[in-house]
Amino acid sequence: MIFRVSKPVFFGDCLAIQSSPAMTSRGGPVADGMTASEVFHSHSSLTYDDLIIMPGFIDFGVQDVKLQTQLTREISIQAPLCSSPMDTVTETEMAVNLALLGGIGFIHYNNTIEEQARMVRRVKRYENGFITEPIVLSPNSLISDVDEIRDRHGFSGVPITEDGTLQSKLVGIVTNRDIDFESDRSIALNNVMTTDPITAPKGITLQEANRILRESKKGKLPIVDKNGFLCALVSRNDIKKNRDFPEASKSADKQLMVGAAISTRPDDRTRLAALVEAGVDVIVVDSAQGHSVFQIELLREIKATYPDLQVIAGNVVTKDQCESLIDSGADGIRVGMGPGSICTTQETMAVGRGQAAAVYHCSNYCRSRGVPVIADGGIRDIGHIVKALSLGSSAVMMGLMFSGTSETPGDYFYQNGVRLKRYRGMASIEAMDSGGGKRYFAEDEQVRVAQGVSGMVMDKGSVRNLIPYLCQGLKHAFQDIGVTNVKALHAALEEGKVNFETRTMSAQREGGVHDMYSYEKPAMGTRERVE
Ligand code: 5GP
Repeated sequence: MIFRVSKPVFFGDCLAIQSSPAMTSRGGPVADGMTASEVFHSHSSLTYDDLIIMPGFIDFGVQDVKLQTQLTREISIQAPLCSSPMDTVTETEMAVNLALLGGIGFIHYNNTIEEQARMVRRVKRYENGFITEPIVLSPNSLISDVDEIRDRHGFSGVPITEDGTLQSKLVGIVTNRDIDFESDRSIALNNVMTTDPITAPKGITLQEANRILRESKKGKLPIVDKNGFLCALVSRNDIKKNRDFPEASKSADKQLMVGAAISTRPDDRTRLAALVEAGVDVIVVDSAQGHSVFQIELLREIKATYPDLQVIAGNVVTKDQCESLIDSGADGIRVGMGPGSICTTQETMAVGRGQAAAVYHCSNYCRSRGVPVIADGGIRDIGHIVKALSLGSSAVMMGLMFSGTSETPGDYFYQNGVRLKRYRGMASIEAMDSGGGKRYFAEDEQVRVAQGVSGMVMDKGSVRNLIPYLCQGLKHAFQDIGVTNVKALHAALEEGKVNFETRTMSAQREGGVHDMYSYEKPAMGTRERVE
């Protein structure tokens, strides 16, 4: 017998998702589970873990799944993955690598305007394989300066320019070979450098640069403009590591895409101008509670001043909030209040919403206005990303997932033999001390109430492994649901063809690893990949 429940059934405080009728082999409506509107009918503050998705019908291969999605009204990216604008998550390195692999990074604002704009510029200028801001010395620098560079950065091939800066005339290069046997490290470089290095002209392709390096057997190839001024450097070691990134998120000018955060404070208008000048593709107005007169005024101003600039507004968790931000000009809506791993907002302020409920209700409304939703926070595994997309969001924003990777700011350290990095909430006391309070209207307060914690996470390796792993996992999940792309998933959601069930505590226990004496869970991204 086939039952169809018209109302969600809750077991304790738990739930699960069910999938698509058009995707069953029978072609008829799905009989198991509930549509999203049935699940959320009760207005319970459901979380991702409370839900599970019903499987659909598979009649295509994993390779047929495409993860391309809308980030804002005008911007599409190749994978639905964004990194949070947090000072322990996104700076140049993260933004470059995420964009290379199809996502997008949002550079934080716990820094000076110049620093943030410089990071944006570096992403926009990035050329795969080319070091566009190499470390440079002058002929008067000493061998000991090269030693210091080797100690700090691990390399010693340094171009020498007339005045020791980039965009100045190249006069030589210093490599290990020039200085290894020199016992006096206080000698000036003009006495030891190679004065007529092999160079290549600006505009050369990476392939061509590679050929020159191979044939000349050199380790470094300075790139110069027609006046002989240094523009970039190509390194043999980097070339070995480089590969093609066909899925890179790029803007019309073929440069990598990058986002940046600003606050709603009046003086961040200057920050915004500097970011626009630096070439930022999309701005996120970073506010923990986005439904404020400050944000509405700012959105209107941005749209009046920079009508072509894409702006993501937030954070919000209700339809009303979405409506008012969209009415004020938002091109994307960031959803989430309190689900973050480092976040204590829901406990401290008693305000927020279960993230599954927030994503569903906001996406439902925003879809009717043609505005994509970014589900922000609370993502621990691929399954959470799948649920966020299945509930209507177009992309997810993650801090925890990317924390501890080698592309995040900060150094690794050891504690009890474990290699760790710091990860902190922007409303932790520590982060607020260095400017993060802007997000919480708490910058100038005498008594500050933290809404986040500061802690440590384990070394997760490189996002260059993690992101392909997440993407491949997502493709498998889409296949299980029976859809080949995000648009089809949202259409199925809208038509009530993606079905869910709620999960009891025991269902959640059953869904995890259980009853093992011991087991080893491989770290994400280090599992064997099938591509
Ligand atoms: P995660 O991926 O770690 O679960 O969540 C990251 C998200 O948490 C960020 O994108 C941001 O929206 C939010 N967030 C960052 N810092 C804090 C904080 O200190 N307090 C709160 N309430 N949320 C934070």
